[in-house]
Formats: sequence, structure tokens, C-alpha cells
Amino acid sequence: MPVPCLKPLLLASLMTVQSVQAAVPCAEFAARLPNLKRDLCEAVKLQATAARSVQGRTLWVRDVKPEQATMRVLVVGAIHGDEPSSAAVAFHWIRLAGQLPFASAQVVHWRFVPVLNPDGIFSQPPRRVNAHGVDLNRNFSTPNWDREARIYWEKRTRKDPRRWPGAKSLSEPESRFLHEQIRDFKPQLIVSIHAPYGVLDFDGPAVPPKRLGSLYLHQVGIYPGSLGNYGGVHSGVPVVTIELPNATRTPRDAEIRQMWLDLLGWMSARLRIQRQAKAVGPSYFESRLVPAAPTAE
Ligand SMILES: [Zn+2]
Repeated sequence: MPVPCLKPLLLASLMTVQSVQAAVPCAEFAARLPNLKRDLCEAVKLQATAARSVQGRTLWVRDVKPEQATMRVLVVGAIHGDEPSSAAVAFHWIRLAGQLPFASAQVVHWRFVPVLNPDGIFSQPPRRVNAHGVDLNRNFSTPNWDREARIYWEKRTRKDPRRWPGAKSLSEPESRFLHEQIRDFKPQLIVSIHAPYGVLDFDGPAVPPKRLGSLYLHQVGIYPGSLGNYGGVHSGVPVVTIELPNATRTPRDAEIRQMWLDLLGWMSARLRIQRQAKAVGPSYFESRLVPAAPTAE
């Protein structure tokens, strides 16, 4: 019996594997994220990166860059996998950024990372931590992390496994990926979306937004290894932390849009300062320094 040539079959299967890897898992995202329709997920056209989660899931981004963009803003959802509403809001905001009906949005190069912790999102049930059991929002390389993160975890959280900071800072592929984004993209503002505390938090050198939609500013504590601590306190990049009121239910569309408009309004005030100063860069935030109480989400 003649042996069939396997080469075309192998090539076909390889191509299938590659195309599966390159396809955004919109059916899965739509099934897991509240108020995210598959159509919206597909419409926003996420872009694959080379980065993978612990379990090998692609870490997706989406850049929205108008020609006249002068400012870079990084938006991150689902650092915690049991806060799926945060990822859904990021998806909705990608669409709003792409529509560009607002003058103040047209100078912004947006980079969205809607799901930083896909393994946590797709875990059954969803988990705050990544597949190594690490709280990614305690794993960033804040100064004195080696000394403080473990002590904080032991003494303040009483060894809460949901808040394990990891064996060392940036030990996780997901936190390393975000760290690289901050290093290479050089955002002048980071917006980190969480749930379910229903407040706004702010770290860094600028006047914080008073409210976004129905969320009001309420600055809380500071944590070793958190993104707000790393970005806002130690790197000089303002970090707006949004705590949605519900982890599994997304705000209504009108509220998502109002939060977006309020964010743009707040940024617009900063952008006016930038134009007056005729300078592009984080320095314009410093022209409105407020006495800095050390705060983080
Ligand atoms: Zn969170």
C-alpha cells in the first residue's frame, strides 16, 4: 500500500494551529466578560503580541493612534482575573477611542491592554491571581520590594493567598509584559481598571480627577508592588485607578461613556497646560503639583 505524502497534511495542520493562535478568542471573551458582545470584541481588532501568560495565552493589545497624537495613555483591564467587568469596560473604551468624536481624544495615542491576566479570567471559577497564584498588582518592582512585599503580605494581609506578591518582583510574564509596555511605550498617563470598590484612586504628580461618571475620588492606601505605587509614586507617571462598583456586572453603556468623557475632560485640562508650556512630556503634569499624600489603590 503506497504511503501517502504527509507533507501537505502537516503544513495544513501547522497553518491551522497558527491561524487559531492568531485569532482573537472573541467567543470565549464574550462568554466570560459581562456586557461584551462578540461583535464588539471582533470590531475592536485586538493585536497579538509575542507575550504569553503563564498558561500560554496571548496577551493582546490595541493601539489607537490619531495622526496628530502628542500624548500617550496606557489603559489596563483585568490585572485581577476575578474582575471581568474591568476588561469589558476596556473593550468598550477601545471602540470609543476609535470613533474619535471628541477633540480632546484626537491628540491621544491610546494603548489598551484589556486583559492582562487571561489565565485568571478563564480560570473556573475566575481568580484574582495568575496561574502561579501571584497577585500581579503586588508584583511590580517598587523600591524596597524585596523587604516590604513579603512583610506586608504576612503582617497586613495575614498571608491572604489572593494577595501573594510572588517570590520576587516581576517574576511573572504578565507583570513583566506590562513593565515592558511602560518602559517602551512611555505612557504619560496610566489608567488601571479594577472592581468592586466603586471609587477612583490616583497616584502621581497631577491634580487628580474628582470624578469619572458616578465614581468619586477616594484615595486609599499604598501597597508594595502595586501598579499605582510603581507608576504614580516612583516613576512619576500619573496612575488613575478605577474601581468599578461591581466585578461581574459592567456599568450601563451610558455610564461607560460618561466615565470616558469625564476622563477626557480631566485630561483636556492637563493638555491645555501642555500647550501653554509648549512641551511634550510628563513635565507638564508637574506644573500642577499637589502636596503628595502617598496613596495607591
Ligand atoms: Zn483589582
